[in-house]
Amino acid sequence: MLEQIINEITKYGKLAGEKGYTPGISGNISARFGENVVITSSGSANGYLENSEFSVIDFVGNSVSGNPKPSSEKFLHLEFYKKRPDINYILHVHSPYLTAFAASGLALEDAISPEIVYCFSKIPLAEYALPGSNDLVEKTAIYFEDYDIVLLENHGVIVGGTTMKQAYLNLELAEEYAKTLICAKILGGAKILPEEEVKKIYSLRQK
Ligand SMILES: [Zn+2]
Repeated sequence: MLEQIINEITKYGKLAGEKGYTPGISGNISARFGENVVITSSGSANGYLENSEFSVIDFVGNSVSGNPKPSSEKFLHLEFYKKRPDINYILHVHSPYLTAFAASGLALEDAISPEIVYCFSKIPLAEYALPGSNDLVEKTAIYFEDYDIVLLENHGVIVGGTTMKQAYLNLELAEEYAKTLICAKILGGAKILPEEEVKKIYSLRQK
């Protein structure tokens, strides 16, 4: 079971690395594991994870087994799981296009395509706080109940999913959304869908 989760995280971490979503040793990945959480260790690179770079922690943040140095963002991950029983996997990365929005202090809220509106009504921006701090957890956690993905101002992005694949695909789609918005800006700005169209798209959702 643990081995299976480690393999899954390693596989999608590598994919995120190959796609350029998780440069260097930035970011961290975790999964719910019974009463505990498995999280990548401090200083590990999501794209090149080794079996020794995983820590099992409890919901208070104490190390249970595995690598003794869990990621310093462990409390951010734990809070996301506490607020959202449906979330089983979390990726935190500094992917370039989403991080460009985070660095510019901009949320992603333009209705530029039905798919984007359907998947993300918006991607909110949590106010800046020091990485690894309680302040960061508090400022970001206010969005976890309503959003699967949140930008961290001047930092990066955190995204969750029921499965590892879903969390990864949420990241992939969000990163492409950010890239499209930036490209559209170069071309003079995206044409935004009218409000009544957005409402029709929301009505297609089954939650
Ligand atoms: Zn980070």
